[in-house]
Amino acid sequence: MLKASAAAVDVVRRPHRGITFLIYHRVGAGNGGQMDLPLDVFEAQLDWLRDTQRVISLDQAADELSSCVGAEPGVGPGVEPGVVLTFDDGTTDWVDHVLPALERFSTPATFYVATEFVDEGVPFPSDGRPLDWVAVRELASSALVTIGSHTHRHLLLDRLPDEQIGDELDRSIELLSEHVDRPVAHFAYPKAVAGSPAADAAVRSRFRTAVLAGTRANRGGADLYRLARSPVQASDGSRWFHRKATGGLGAEDEMRQLANRVRYRGITA
Ligand SMILES: [Zn+2]
Repeated sequence: MLKASAAAVDVVRRPHRGITFLIYHRVGAGNGGQMDLPLDVFEAQLDWLRDTQRVISLDQAADELSSCVGAEPGVGPGVEPGVVLTFDDGTTDWVDHVLPALERFSTPATFYVATEFVDEGVPFPSDGRPLDWVAVRELASSALVTIGSHTHRHLLLDRLPDEQIGDELDRSIELLSEHVDRPVAHFAYPKAVAGSPAADAAVRSRFRTAVLAGTRANRGGADLYRLARSPVQASDGSRWFHRKATGGLGAEDEMRQLANRVRYRGITA
């Protein structure tokens, strides 16, 4: 119902084209949640993306978005439409299912790791088994993979005291740098909630890009620290997935954000 309403809004308020970032969490973990896609569904998505879209790495998207700056911020002249795949958190299905599928379809993706869960073996919600560092290194060894930070403890950066923000980011960068032999240049805000002004400044001084939600394509000249992403859900089916991958269904996100503001009130992680 929400998706159908959002699609109806797209008819009136046509989504603009640009580079769409998709948010995934788990694949084939079998927890039956909205953020856990069955493996065959994920593979069908990769198959469709390969045949119909231009799937690019996050660094390439950042290069392209920043090289076509228009008269107004975020409304630059046509960036070539494309899709970037991103994964949040750090569960074992990333090496068990996601990496082999990406390699089968030669599709690049970015993985944002909440490092405390990996470093201390803390389970994620809904029985999410965390990767260990051996698995993170295996993931990072693929030329298709970019590793980013998702904070250390998965804390919401709109409510963390200013003096703790730097440590939260630096601990994550330090651990990832220690285990992954590449610079950690990209960041995803936990639960896609934008940070406080202090968090925004801390993120800008440490990373090249940062991603939120928003369910729309990013246009040329977009703020690289407020990149919009579109969450892929198990209930999307191919019809809604195709719309999201091309920048549609923004109204679904607006309604969800409204609900989340109520749900996450008073919560810090
Ligand atoms: Zn997360």
